Amino acid sequence: MAKKFKGPAIGIDLGTTYSCVAVWQSQNNRAEIIHNEQGNRTTPSFVAFTDDQRLIGDAAKIQAASNPTNTVFDAKRLIGRKYSDSVIQNDILLWPFKVVAGTDDKPEIIVKYKGAEKRFCAEEISSMVLTKMREIAEKFLELPVKNAVVTVPAYFNDSQRKATKDAGAIAGLNVMRIINEPTAAALAYGLQKRADHVGKRNVFIFDLGGGTFDVSLLTLINDNFIVKATAGDTHLGGEDFDNRMVSYLVKEFKKKNKVDISGNPKALRRLRTACERAKRTLSFVTEALIDIDAIYEGIDFYLLVTRAKFEQLNMDFFEKCLETVKSCFSDAKMDKRSIDDVVLVGGSSRIPKVQQLLQEFFEGKDLYSSINPDEAVAYGAAVQAALLSEGVNYKNVPNLVLQDVTPLSLGMKIRGDVMDVVIPRNTSIPVKKTIEYITIEDDQSSVEILVYEGERMIASENNLLGLFDMPVRRAPRGLPIQVCFTIDADGILYVSAEEETSGNKKVITITNEKGRLSREEIERMTKEAEHFKSEDMKHVKKVRAVNALDDYLYDMKKVMKDKSVASKLSLVDILMISSAMIKGKELIDGKEKNDTFVFVDCLREIKSTFQSAFNKF
Ligand code: ADP
Ligand code: MG
Repeated sequence: MAKKFKGPAIGIDLGTTYSCVAVWQSQNNRAEIIHNEQGNRTTPSFVAFTDDQRLIGDAAKIQAASNPTNTVFDAKRLIGRKYSDSVIQNDILLWPFKVVAGTDDKPEIIVKYKGAEKRFCAEEISSMVLTKMREIAEKFLELPVKNAVVTVPAYFNDSQRKATKDAGAIAGLNVMRIINEPTAAALAYGLQKRADHVGKRNVFIFDLGGGTFDVSLLTLINDNFIVKATAGDTHLGGEDFDNRMVSYLVKEFKKKNKVDISGNPKALRRLRTACERAKRTLSFVTEALIDIDAIYEGIDFYLLVTRAKFEQLNMDFFEKCLETVKSCFSDAKMDKRSIDDVVLVGGSSRIPKVQQLLQEFFEGKDLYSSINPDEAVAYGAAVQAALLSEGVNYKNVPNLVLQDVTPLSLGMKIRGDVMDVVIPRNTSIPVKKTIEYITIEDDQSSVEILVYEGERMIASENNLLGLFDMPVRRAPRGLPIQVCFTIDADGILYVSAEEETSGNKKVITITNEKGRLSREEIERMTKEAEHFKSEDMKHVKKVRAVNALDDYLYDMKKVMKDKSVASKLSLVDILMISSAMIKGKELIDGKEKNDTFVFVDCLREIKSTFQSAFNKF
């Protein structure tokens, strides 16, 4: 029996482009998607920095075009990757914000905040989005929230998972479990189906979002969810489709107007926003208009884009999706005809061409469309959070049992740069496997343990997860070394090695390999996050104080205009009042210069001036 957590627990779908938060509601016997202060059920994964504040979510996205270099998005595309990764190098060309190489080749985002240059790693940006999602939940529940289940693409590798967990820690969250997005969606689907179905069902989850693409094949036997195989691409989604459209339109604009807007972040941001909107429109109608006033040097952008053009621009991406679907079936050794339901998840699964290709692959089968593609992941995460929690609120959660798999093969580099697979991909997790290796030279003083993940047979072509030297007793070659691979329920790997023949047992665990944040770094970032939060609060408090003063002045001005009132006041009172009002107005005009308490004091003073004047009659 796993340990149960106490207190409110939420599910967070931390998306590349949009995030969503949900919580189990025992009184309704279902999970509830929580809307943000704008009334939206999903929140843009955007963080912006300005001269006087930090913005997260809708507020950050809205101002992106006017502040492109300090508005950060796509942190999920950076998280757990190296700066030199070709994926990052390509993305950098399209991002309006600056990304540089930090220590250990870790990417760092540079922004201007309150007039000074600030650097953030992807974990910190993601932690800000997580903090925002937590606050949305806290407002709804009217309770502090600590525990959360956070989702990641099934195809995220070990370092991307660990980095996401770190982001949660920086946000001050206790990440109870990391679960795969398509698996979470399957939980949402399964709960819905549960009412009218018992027995065995094979389900295929197709999750095409803004930044990532994931598929999973599951077998549901009553309340048991068994993932059979998973496949995907951690860098394929709606943003790529937007990029194609942007590049095409930049070229068209150049052809027509002989000007190149590709070096202008502001113009590009406006164009990208228009493209995303047009793309959505094209899912419902066959034509969409791009219409942007004075995009560059006073020239308007006005062009009709057809659905056919959009499809042509992205056809290779769509076909790539289908290839992934096929490989998932061949991995699971399952026939596509045995699938009972094909479930669509992720905003980009609404694209008609994608649906058409998928339906053709499944030989005309209807696609299951009764779950909300934007919300299913958060819904499932909330269910998992409830399953891991105890207390009255979580008493009636259906006892769903989830068995997930590892997306990539894990192994060791052995003699001749060969990848020796210890845990093949699509193995059920959690899992623990021990393999015996032997030394290859006489009198060897140590062995080097190199852990890789990936499908290539040449170890060094795969992704190096970590390495360590293991001292061993000097002996003739053939000394046995036990190497143990453990994958926990979050899909995170720990490797230990021991040499026990001499009794001098030594165990080393890879937990903090290069690229991952150290405990100290996490602590430092957590403190910084708290500092940010208090700065944000400070800003909000000041805005409230200024507004309160402004509102009061406005009301009193109206009162003073009323002759029947003013005639009852003495000349001295009128003078006192108007000088207090002038002072208030001056403070508001120069609001940058003053602290919150100045406005609060001023309001108090004006109020008492008014009251003492009005008390006289
Ligand atoms: P993620 O979880 O990766 O952030 P989401 O599942 O929230 O992604 O999907 C967001 C993506 O879906 C965006 O790229 C958005 O433009 C795209 N999208 C949303 N609605 C539609 C639609 N009607 N047609 C095409 N794409 C859409
Ligand atoms: Mg998603």
